[in-house]
Amino acid sequence: MQVLDTLGRPVRDLRISVTDRCNFRCVYCMPKEVFGREYEFLPRGELLSFEEIARVAHVAASIGVTKVRVTGGEPLARRDLERLIAMLAELPVDLTLTTNGALLAAKARVLAESGLQRVTVSLDALDDATFRALNDVDFPVTRVLEGIDAARDAGLPVKVNCVVKRGVNEQEIVPLARFFRERGDTLRFIEYMDVGSTNGWRTDDVVAAKEIVALLDREFGVEPVEQAYRGEVARRYRYRDGGEVGVIASVTQPFCGDCTRLRLSADGRLYTCLFATRGDDVRGALRSGATDDELRDLLTGLWRARGDRYSELRTAESASDPKVEMSYIGG
Ligand code: SAM
Ligand code: SF4
Ligand code: SF4
Repeated sequence: MQVLDTLGRPVRDLRISVTDRCNFRCVYCMPKEVFGREYEFLPRGELLSFEEIARVAHVAASIGVTKVRVTGGEPLARRDLERLIAMLAELPVDLTLTTNGALLAAKARVLAESGLQRVTVSLDALDDATFRALNDVDFPVTRVLEGIDAARDAGLPVKVNCVVKRGVNEQEIVPLARFFRERGDTLRFIEYMDVGSTNGWRTDDVVAAKEIVALLDREFGVEPVEQAYRGEVARRYRYRDGGEVGVIASVTQPFCGDCTRLRLSADGRLYTCLFATRGDDVRGALRSGATDDELRDLLTGLWRARGDRYSELRTAESASDPKVEMSYIGG
């Protein structure tokens, strides 16, 4: 079954946030001044159970979803996550997870054994002092690198994502590229986005993909690679002497026209855009005995009504509109 939104886009991806909590306080995502001791995270009872999440994923798969990504907050901070992974692995979908890598060394093997197919690790600096300042909990870079190694040893292909914020980590672009090129891991640089309302985003903080590519070209020599499939978010470049690197230009070259993502928050709200201000409750339906057909109607109805294209319409003013937080909705 294929369901199209008002702009003719099918629903293909489901991103599932399993918690709004995180063991990091990345400066561009969960600034400590806001997400401090007093911050009220979702109470446990509000979170969807693994069974409830798996049901939504099952229904989503029946209307065309072929990729499921588990995210957060920090997904590995949710206890027994492998149990959810095993449930999702029964669906005919590509199953992956985005993590900050802090707990990956301990978890990689059990996740792979439970059916996880791939993993994306966020890593914004190789320099330890820069990384500790960025995650703002003094977490050492070596532990994330150990997590990446453990994932590979467990047979999980790894992609590494780096968000670039001006004045914070643009000096890390070349060292990260060199490091992961030599190791043969896929690395993608992501433009800093105006998600949420707490990170104080300003246009000047964005290092444009063009600038990142120019830097890589100067250092290594790169040339563009053809898109592998329509809707591929990363623009890929080939190093002249082998290997690839990607950039995700969410701000300067938006890709809303190909956006096929539905997002489920940890407390059971469905969002059709990363920049939405409100989501549609599915938890109520799950907890009041809705049948699969009723859940399917709910998902189909909200996707058919979708007309989101925030990034194509972004203005300096809209950037300060109230929006859900990245740690709540997932990346
Ligand atoms: N905690 C996990 C992690 O960091 O990988 C998963 C959740 S995190 C919200 C998902 C992704 O969003 C990460 O790759 C993170 O770097 C990215 N992210 C967070 N805030 C961002 C922002 N303002 N702009 C661009 N990407 C951002
Ligand atoms: Fe946590 Fe990920 Fe946000 Fe960093 S980007 S604070 S690791 S949720
Ligand atoms: Fe998709 Fe919304 Fe991002 Fe556009 S702004 S690519 S519609 S999530």
